[in-house]
Amino acid sequence: MKFETKTIHAGVHPDPFTGAIMTPIYQTSTYVQRSPGDHDGYEYSRTHNPTRTQLQNNLASLENGNWGLCFGSGMGAIDTLCKVLNPGDEVIATNDLYGGSYRIFTKVYQDFGIKFHFVDLSEIENFKEKINSKTRMVWIETPTNPMLTIIDIRSIAGIAKANGILTVVDNTFCSPYLQNPLDLGADIVMHSVTKYINGHSDVVMGAIIGKDEAMLERLSFIQNSCGAVPGPFDCFLTLRGIKTLHVRMARHCENGKVIANYLRNHPKVNKVYWPGFEDHKNHLVAKSQMKDFGGMISFTLKEDSIEAAHRFLSRSKLFALAESLGGVESLCGHPSSMTHASIPREERLKSGLVDSLIRLSVGIENADDLMEDLDQALS
Ligand SMILES: *Cc1c(COP(=O)(O)O)cnc(C)c1O
Repeated sequence: MKFETKTIHAGVHPDPFTGAIMTPIYQTSTYVQRSPGDHDGYEYSRTHNPTRTQLQNNLASLENGNWGLCFGSGMGAIDTLCKVLNPGDEVIATNDLYGGSYRIFTKVYQDFGIKFHFVDLSEIENFKEKINSKTRMVWIETPTNPMLTIIDIRSIAGIAKANGILTVVDNTFCSPYLQNPLDLGADIVMHSVTKYINGHSDVVMGAIIGKDEAMLERLSFIQNSCGAVPGPFDCFLTLRGIKTLHVRMARHCENGKVIANYLRNHPKVNKVYWPGFEDHKNHLVAKSQMKDFGGMISFTLKEDSIEAAHRFLSRSKLFALAESLGGVESLCGHPSSMTHASIPREERLKSGLVDSLIRLSVGIENADDLMEDLDQALS
């Protein structure tokens, strides 16, 4: 089956009792057994729930994996992956990392004796340099947030495999429509389902997808033991959202291209970061591992100050000022004072995250309306 067909059909089946074509919301905590241990695979909804099962199978198929697991949030999924590590293990992670991932690594798991190295993984040498006998996992985000740097998944995963290191890719910014890390050699894909996959800004959820059966056994043991599972209603909403993932993503990419080019030619704009530009540092890598370039764009203003950025952000209307990304509606944010405020300014500047940097999540509205909004906010 092709991707577009899988979003609608993979892993889901009509309800065996009624023929209901849409997966029912099995809003139940427990299941009646015929005699002790004699049941149809469902005992208790922390362990298994039919609505969740169908979503997990659908996601596994979209990422070309053998299994999928869903969690109550993206952070719940990341927490579960951290729990496969042991004290003394080391992790090499992207430096331009989602703030919540940086926080759980440094403020929670570092205290349990796990060591994290943050390096620019777009330079392969940086990765090789940090590998030692304790390295257990490499954690990739590509494109990165908010600088939209591209990391070569094939190269990192190849080196990792040769050194017995697990490759994990946080694929949130791409969704399975744009990039399938397992096909590029990664061992595990993780998503904040909250973003593009659900796509309607009405659910918080996470997912992990992989191929290895032993890893599935360990992760589902942790999922059931620690309990960060999503409820059946959220699973239903997400299944509903996924049915239009390919249609939404195509429009996100189309609008993203229009807006990136519009900004690039605007007199008030200094730099525009978007992997679709031919002169983007890793454009060719992006082209080889992504189907298209997505709707995430960052840009800086000629007047590089927090005040100028704040003026833009309080004047934009269609681009709503909010955290998060990947919904049908356009959003804008200011990393220096929002998502990345906890990183010291000197550190931010080193990676190009200047005071006026603004991040856009381009939605699927009419592109002319979006440009008109940017125009009035920039003027
Ligand atoms: C939002 C996000 C997360 C965390 O997911 P939640 O669903 O908010 O818990 C992790 N990684 C990336 C890249 C994100 O954008």
